[in-house]
Amino acid sequence: MGNNKVKSPHVLIFPLPLQGPVNCMLKLAELLAINGLHVTFLNTDYIQNCLLKHTHVQSRFENYPGFRFETIPDGLHQHHPRTADKFVDITNGIEEVMRPLFIEMLTNGNLSSKSTKPVSFIISDGFYSFAADLAKDAGIPLVYFPTISPCAQWAFFCLPRLIDLAEVPFKEEDYDRKVSGVPGAENFLRQRDLPSYFRNTDLNHPIIQCILKEIQQIPRSQGLILNSSELIDGPMISQISTLCPNIYNIGPLHSLHKSILLSTQKASSHINSSNSLWEDDKSCMTWLDAQPQKSVIYISIGSLAVMTVDQLKELWHGIVNSGKRFLWALRPGSIAGEDDKYAIPPELSEATKERGCIVSWVFQEEVLAHPAIGLFLTHSGWNSTLESLVEGVPMICWPYFVDQQVNSRLVQEVWRVGIDLKDSCDRVTFEKAVREIMEDKKDEFESSASKIAKLAHQSVADQGGSARYNFNRLVEDIREMTQRTPAHD
Ligand code: UDP
Repeated sequence: MGNNKVKSPHVLIFPLPLQGPVNCMLKLAELLAINGLHVTFLNTDYIQNCLLKHTHVQSRFENYPGFRFETIPDGLHQHHPRTADKFVDITNGIEEVMRPLFIEMLTNGNLSSKSTKPVSFIISDGFYSFAADLAKDAGIPLVYFPTISPCAQWAFFCLPRLIDLAEVPFKEEDYDRKVSGVPGAENFLRQRDLPSYFRNTDLNHPIIQCILKEIQQIPRSQGLILNSSELIDGPMISQISTLCPNIYNIGPLHSLHKSILLSTQKASSHINSSNSLWEDDKSCMTWLDAQPQKSVIYISIGSLAVMTVDQLKELWHGIVNSGKRFLWALRPGSIAGEDDKYAIPPELSEATKERGCIVSWVFQEEVLAHPAIGLFLTHSGWNSTLESLVEGVPMICWPYFVDQQVNSRLVQEVWRVGIDLKDSCDRVTFEKAVREIMEDKKDEFESSASKIAKLAHQSVADQGGSARYNFNRLVEDIREMTQRTPAHD
């Protein structure tokens, strides 16, 4: 320090081109920018266009002179649905189009040492295993940020052990067998609760190979960011630290982001801004204002999951039969094969009009924080799970893929804040679960949910919160590590 060659670090943030990771990493980017770091956020063209169309990211980030967006194509045509059932197209696009372009940008292009503003630090999604070699060759420190849950990430790390123990692959008749190959989770994980990809019976499947590659590369980086805290996920985080000793637990990140913005005068007007890829429906907030406290079930299966028309009907019947009010964010394209059209089952139309509010997309953090919400029927994406935990809202979990099978098990068996309905979909089960949470065991669920919410708030507290501490440590380490790299001189 004191050397006039010292410049502000330039951090490249490279999220997976999906709503959850982009939302998460934009929050991290903003926190780094508040701390005076230069940040380049690398989005796909598709994601960037959605953000520009439906949010105020452009004007929000103009507040930070050192911040800029860069874009890269994702290799898919404009109208590709980019949903979970077509996930292989997304990963192929990453491998065949994004990867070579990213390498070019970082070795010769406008992020490279040949450019006027070379990147001096990389924060990349854990999925991009190619980033490790690239960063090493370029002499740039790299920290991975897998935005899935720590428990699922730990299960990924344990895949070789699970294969050795013959616990993966497994057959459907073994779904209820407890798993011993994920240390720390022996008491609650069954084979059906492992990440969805582990249901694959072919170990040569590209996604299994991709996970095996990813778990070798992550420990080679200078650190690992996790979106959780010791108070919520302590046992899993300490397991991961046996492989990756430098962990920055900065979660729940959306809550840390809000709390830091609240204490930063300059940014306070942006707290209630979403990073949505679809347009947030505002009318549902007015509808919620008119509902009694904790009376409404909020339903959403996130940004990628899809359901069949039959599943839609079962869910709808179950909710209506419970007699509760509901707010449903029914994302365009989330009903398989239905081209955004769905027919309200005629026998349900009256009850739906009376007690329901159906919209396409909401600003979920704001919805979950509304006092009228009493239950979240969720696909158990990690961001949705954290957002619900922070607001103390109990959950019915209906997981679709990736880490959701793991998260839903944690919700039921570890935090005891919900009911896990994985692998089932019938109206009677949905109705029963709603009644259990909102009537029969209401006090029990509300009390565990408020306990976890307290822990989440403690984690981000400005006095003694672990997320605050770890975030500050990350900023200091970025400054320190970038002073040591040749790319910085
Ligand atoms: N989300 C939202 N509005 C909706 C549905 C989802 O803002 O109507 C946000 C939600 O707050 C979360 C993200 O989309 O931050 C979804 O991420 P998650 O990890 O829960 O699931 P994914 O969509 O990746 O499956």
